[in-house]
Amino acid sequence: MTDKAQLLGQMGISPEVASFCEKQEKGLRDKFDELDRIAEYNSWKVLDAFHKEQVQEMHFDCTSGYGYTDPGRDTLEKVYADIFHTEDALVRPQIISGTHALATTVFGILRPGDEILFACGTPYDTMQGVVGIRNEVGNLTEFGITYKIVPLNDRNLPDIPAITAAIGPKTKVVEIQRSKGYEYRHSLSVKEIGDIIKAVKEVKPDVIAMVDNCYGEFTQTIEPTDVGADIAVGSLIKNAGGGLAPIGGYIVGRKDLIELCAVHLTAPGLGKEAGATLGVTKAMFQGLFYSPTVTAAAMKTAVYAAAVFSALGYDVLPKADEERCDIVEAITLNQSEAILSFCKGVQAAAPVDSHVTPVPWDMPGYGVPIIMAAGSFNSGASIELSADAPIQPPYIVYFQGGLTWPHGKYGVMRALQEMVNDPKTKLPKEIC
Ligand SMILES: *Cc1c(COP(=O)(O)O)cnc(C)c1O
Repeated sequence: MTDKAQLLGQMGISPEVASFCEKQEKGLRDKFDELDRIAEYNSWKVLDAFHKEQVQEMHFDCTSGYGYTDPGRDTLEKVYADIFHTEDALVRPQIISGTHALATTVFGILRPGDEILFACGTPYDTMQGVVGIRNEVGNLTEFGITYKIVPLNDRNLPDIPAITAAIGPKTKVVEIQRSKGYEYRHSLSVKEIGDIIKAVKEVKPDVIAMVDNCYGEFTQTIEPTDVGADIAVGSLIKNAGGGLAPIGGYIVGRKDLIELCAVHLTAPGLGKEAGATLGVTKAMFQGLFYSPTVTAAAMKTAVYAAAVFSALGYDVLPKADEERCDIVEAITLNQSEAILSFCKGVQAAAPVDSHVTPVPWDMPGYGVPIIMAAGSFNSGASIELSADAPIQPPYIVYFQGGLTWPHGKYGVMRALQEMVNDPKTKLPKEIC
């Protein structure tokens, strides 16, 4: 056996940081076993869909131009519909991001005079621009579509009585966000999402339950569409792309709703019939195949970060042993300097662009300066090890991804090491 401590030393990790981190890993065996069992189940669920739809080599062929005939694209969409147990799916490289998938859904479904109700407090930052909570040009309100936001209750959970009370004659869509986004709240379990859907459907049976599923896919053994969601939406440079899809988003759900999204994405009269895939279908299939185990690696990384940073006295969400409903770990670092050194470490740990230092910037779609650390194979892919933080008190860093557990583990060590190395960063407790 070659010397691990020596290799880590060569990679910038001090013996103190290494042994402190190794110590925290000891208590995580049961949790890791549980995550492996979830990955096993979901991998088989994905494989079963591949078998059912007879995925074959010709599905990886490249189409160009209009893309009127693309059996690979059509089969990939059937596979998604099978996995999510929905009538239909739209899975396209023309959907450029999660935000675009969400925007396609709300612009596709809503009509002038309709209202969208946000059930989990203020939605994700980029969605605020889409619906007009932040006044970006072209937002939903310009089309006579209104929104209502139901704040979380005093325990930071969806306020079901307030949600049902807010439903009115104009409410067409209730949007539920599974992952916390840049909010310091618990991400929702699929069961909790089901409880909200059940309550809103009791008040208004034809209301459309829409779930922002970003970061949630394959973290549990069921998906929101298994508990009554009419439509669910996500990004392929997060969980579902398995780190291999170079671009894309998905929308799964009721056939009539998918049709509305498709004609909005392309054009009325075209819908799902057109859209060349330019050779990326193989990466989308292969990424989906890997996604459950990649998601498990990201969850192990998050659990490990929770264990290490809570042992140092930081407030973490969720805690290492708590139920995990997405791949994101929120760590309250209390100081802007600590955010900068944490992110510097995540960047230094990356397989790509490890030599650069991330700095905060005014990113389009966000209201405050954001720092993002990601040295990823696919630009901005946050299923790859990454950290981002809005630079504002109480200085929470959102840490996610990790294509492999060894990489995630090194990333956590390196983030801590940069904090230890930085004289301006004060740890709540000494490492011993
Ligand atoms: C990432 C994310 C989005 C937006 O996805 P992008 O691909 O970054 O546009 C929306 N909602 C949630 C909860 C997310 O985590």
